[in-house]
Amino acid sequence: MQVSKWFKNTCYAALKTREQPRFVDPLNITAMACLAFPLCPLAITEAERGIPGILKRIRAVFEKVGLKYNESVVVRITGCPNGCARPYMAELRLVGDGPNSYQLGGNQNQTSLAQSFMDKGFEKPWKGGSSSTSTPQP
Ligand code: SF4
Repeated sequence: MQVSKWFKNTCYAALKTREQPRFVDPLNITAMACLAFPLCPLAITEAERGIPGILKRIRAVFEKVGLKYNESVVVRITGCPNGCARPYMAELRLVGDGPNSYQLGGNQNQTSLAQSFMDKGFEKPWKGGSSSTSTPQP
């Protein structure tokens, strides 16, 4: 198939003038969340709508402890224990275990099933209001 000169020139011009790719936080690249509210009838808390705020808070903690802007962990969040976003193989997982609350867990390098650290460990983490309401699990 012949490609017209006009089409080639238009493509080259578009490529030349396109914006440079902007920086994307590596946390956003590897993170995953299920649909949860308002699309999943089984959801008991937020996931997809809450993940941007949660990732911002995780990045803020990274900066506070001196981790570089390109350091990352695999974060997965679901709105119920069914685990559609595969939180049980995440380095940091938040599994919805009640209205506006999550079980916190994870495992280094995704080498095995994520351990649970805390039940109801976060309440509304996307709004900055985390609290621990139970003791960490072994
Ligand atoms: S993990 Fe639960 S809330 Fe999320 S999509 Fe699956 S069933 Fe729905």
